[in-house]
Amino acid sequence: MLDDKYCIEPDRPKEMIWCKKCLYPSSSATSLSFDEKGVCSGCQVSKEGETNVDWDRRWKLLQRLTDEYKNQDRSNYDCIIPVSGGKDSYFQIHIIKKVLGLNPLLVTYNANNYTKTGMENLVNMKEVFGVDHIFFTPSIDVLKKLNRMGMKMMGDMNWHAHAGINTYPIKVAVAQKVPLMIWGEHGRMEHGGMHSHNDMIEFTYRYRHEHQLRGYEWSDFVKRAKEFGETLSKEEMIPWMYPNDEEIEDIGVRGIYLSNYVKWDATRHTKMMIDLYGFKESDEPFERTFTKTSNLDDMHENGIHDYMKYIKFGYGRATDHACREIRKGRMSRKEAIPIVLKMDPIKSKDLYRWLDYVGWSEEEFDKIADTFRDPRVWWKDKNGNWKKDNIKN
Ligand SMILES: [Zn+2]
Repeated sequence: MLDDKYCIEPDRPKEMIWCKKCLYPSSSATSLSFDEKGVCSGCQVSKEGETNVDWDRRWKLLQRLTDEYKNQDRSNYDCIIPVSGGKDSYFQIHIIKKVLGLNPLLVTYNANNYTKTGMENLVNMKEVFGVDHIFFTPSIDVLKKLNRMGMKMMGDMNWHAHAGINTYPIKVAVAQKVPLMIWGEHGRMEHGGMHSHNDMIEFTYRYRHEHQLRGYEWSDFVKRAKEFGETLSKEEMIPWMYPNDEEIEDIGVRGIYLSNYVKWDATRHTKMMIDLYGFKESDEPFERTFTKTSNLDDMHENGIHDYMKYIKFGYGRATDHACREIRKGRMSRKEAIPIVLKMDPIKSKDLYRWLDYVGWSEEEFDKIADTFRDPRVWWKDKNGNWKKDNIKN
């Protein structure tokens, strides 16, 4: 027999479930599954990293691998590190340059959304590490068009940034003939447990296209610009054009993730980077998460971009960060629940900067945002208000 609540609210979806150890819901934005005890794959992979990986052996593998890629006559860089100047960038450069002794070329795709502290960290990074650095900024006019179109096409104004970070450094690798690229953590492996540490997953075009770029390429934007009232030409999309297979194979471009070789703990690494290199936390707390050190390179990532994750999937970055702390044993599930219930729904004030930037009204934003609400999460009550299930203790 149907529960009464489903008769009163017929659009109500099946009740959501949450991981028994962390706070990830069944509607997670990252690929995730649950075992028979109701524990998510992210928690299982995290436990594997704590107990079942020989990190000493992994370190030796990294030393051997990077030795093979060292430029023999010192006439070119040993590797490329895509960086934003954030805490992970500092840690990557620390390991690659200071510990392993490689000569990296740093590449930044500038999404034009740096916070003040994020920019200070970027400038400091160049000074403290003494590295060569390419800082690439696409046309602001094009960025505004891609912000608006990304929001309308997929509810993600930052598609251009995810695409840029996963394209521009690879273009540089091809142009500069530097085959080895070293990324930090594999986000979907760390959060959702999409892969095991034993898969030794590396960067692929397929992962970039299907996950990081949500299945869209530059050509989709050019094709659909008119439909969204924009004008966009092929030549404006050069920064987002991925090199072809022949170009990649000629150079032998290969992207590895440092998190497969070094035990990843973003919070611990951040403390190290503050002590060793003067990495700065945000002066002000963020509205949508309790940490003060993540995504300083992009004020909308922790803000309105992340609010869209809440609109789509019913949770946000406070949940991501709380899950990380729970898995590392620094926060209990009970302590975390009130924090995420308070922070995940907040419509952050950076929205008004963004609206001004792209020339939209808040009403327009809300109307488009509502079209992306996942029916597995949201329903409307009889008064037309949006409702969702919330995590309970
Ligand atoms: Zn979990």
